[in-house]
Amino acid sequence: MTPFARPYGRRTFFARERPLAMPSLCVFGAQWGDEGKGKIIDHLAADVTHVVRYQGGSNAGHTVVVGAEKYVLHLVPSGVLHPGKVNVIANGVAVDPLLLLEEIDGLIARGVAVSSANLRLSARAHVILQHHRRLDALAERWRGEGRIGTTGRGIGPCYADKAARVGLRVCDLLDPARLESGLRVALAEKNALIQSVHGDTPLDLGEQLDLYGRLAERLSSFVGDTGAELRDAHRAGAAILFEAAQGVMLDVDHGTYPYVTSSNTGVDGIPAGVGFPPQWIGRAVGIAKAYCTRVGEGPFPSEEHGPRGAELREAGNEYGATTGRPRRCGWLDVVALRYALELNGATSWIMTNLDVLSGLGDVPVAVAYRREGRRFETFPAELSSLDAVEVEYEHRPGWTEDLTGIRRFEDLPRAARNYVEWVEASVRVPIETLSIGPRRDQVIHRS
Ligand code: GDP
Repeated sequence: MTPFARPYGRRTFFARERPLAMPSLCVFGAQWGDEGKGKIIDHLAADVTHVVRYQGGSNAGHTVVVGAEKYVLHLVPSGVLHPGKVNVIANGVAVDPLLLLEEIDGLIARGVAVSSANLRLSARAHVILQHHRRLDALAERWRGEGRIGTTGRGIGPCYADKAARVGLRVCDLLDPARLESGLRVALAEKNALIQSVHGDTPLDLGEQLDLYGRLAERLSSFVGDTGAELRDAHRAGAAILFEAAQGVMLDVDHGTYPYVTSSNTGVDGIPAGVGFPPQWIGRAVGIAKAYCTRVGEGPFPSEEHGPRGAELREAGNEYGATTGRPRRCGWLDVVALRYALELNGATSWIMTNLDVLSGLGDVPVAVAYRREGRRFETFPAELSSLDAVEVEYEHRPGWTEDLTGIRRFEDLPRAARNYVEWVEASVRVPIETLSIGPRRDQVIHRS
């Protein structure tokens, strides 16, 4: 049997429900992305059986530091760094087969075990093809001043094709006849667009078929009906960690549209992006930095445009993990954070990068927005309201001590403790853990 013809079925079936070992949970970014999700997911992965990516594409760049080794994961879930965990790329992810295989090869070359036993890929996931990447870059050029600031990796165009019902899925890639007919139809339209609208060179069908045929053969062993596998695993008592990419403020429905990513970046993305009932998800934990950053265009009310923004960038090494782009930096925004946590029903959250604020002087925090004489503490829906808002800050006392070696909350400097407690009271959702450095062990658990 050729790998193309291999049926992908359920690996296991559990007829009887068993009690859950521990509840499943979703970890999501509660700001504009880059909150340090990779590190926290890696930390939590030790206690779960499955780690699942359910939205976004290789525009995510989760950084995980294990000992002296630094890994940047784009598509492979962060649980891959823990032996024995099952990592799932679910149907809601836009998968670039070229980048996925590069990432797998890179991990294997560094001694990380990756096989069909610990990495599963949904047959239903949509595939990013060369024309998606090309059109992403060309469309940004076309938009000029109005550009969205995409990473140019074809994710938006792939999701657009999914919604337009002309996309190709992983299962199509594995079937040579469907791949041929799907690519032929897609390229007829996309090449016309590339040539006549953008004046660029068309893609060659033969070359594309050859490339994706080869990639499909290599990917086939990972492919399965991951939704069914995860539902079975849940019934058997699995603890599943749903790993979000980007941040809630970039959610296509609830973020600062149109300056958003193309998927649902919070708990809302799980049922559709995995094939998993919402009532099985368990708890939702938000991740937010002790300050705020944003990459790309779009509103960022608490952005610090002065020299203190540059100081924050250097102190926090705020450069994109995927693109190397300098991140826009600013102060914690309680209005936006409260909105993100509420939207996802977060019962607690984790504050990262508290160590970065050491030695930076007093710490401004955005507590309300003002517009046309009105003061509001809730996040406005229309983008135009954000453009004109004035931000009201409360200035909290800073501290100078290095926090990176501290492991107990009571050992933090008084000003740092006060900052954490004051933010927690303002946001009205408890902070369960603090992160005070990039390494696995640099966390402070609170009771
Ligand atoms: P993600 O996409 O949300 O995983 O975030 P990124 O990986 O893009 O960015 C987080 C960066 O901050 C990475 O370089 C991490 O190693 C680093 N990091 C994570 N937590 C902390 C922390 O508590 N303190 C400091 N200083 N760096 C952290």
